[in-house]
Amino acid sequence: MKLYKVKKSKIDKNGLYASRNISKGTKIIEYKGKIITRKQSEENPKFDNDKAIYLFNLNKRYDLDGDFKFNTARLINHSCDPNCEVAGSGLKVWVYAIKDITKDEELSYDYGFSYDKDYKQFPCKCKSVKCVGYIVREGSRWRIKKKRK
Ligand SMILES: [Zn+2]
Repeated sequence: MKLYKVKKSKIDKNGLYASRNISKGTKIIEYKGKIITRKQSEENPKFDNDKAIYLFNLNKRYDLDGDFKFNTARLINHSCDPNCEVAGSGLKVWVYAIKDITKDEELSYDYGFSYDKDYKQFPCKCKSVKCVGYIVREGSRWRIKKKRK
């Protein structure tokens, strides 16, 4: 039985929701894509910035390009207070629960965008208490909070 379902998201467009209670550490869905060499991803203009959210680094030699319709996991939205993370395991990439998730909760992870001059192009609508208003990786969010003061 699938642990997720696709539904109209409260954050943005469609999202993935837990179809039942999921405990912390569970593999929820495979992040599917095509394995490409790092040389290929470096030469592809599609990935010509650090906001390539569908590109995952697998190791020194390979990346995973997840920018395909068959990759259902790409529908997962960013949140400033996520309940999932995406991590590689060999040449596969999985979405793991990093908290206990209740049935019907929306799944989310940190897109890991860096903080740069373009950050305002990526507003965040996650509405969590921790939301800083923009999609920026956790380690850089203090920069936005500092600006607000
Ligand atoms: Zn947010």
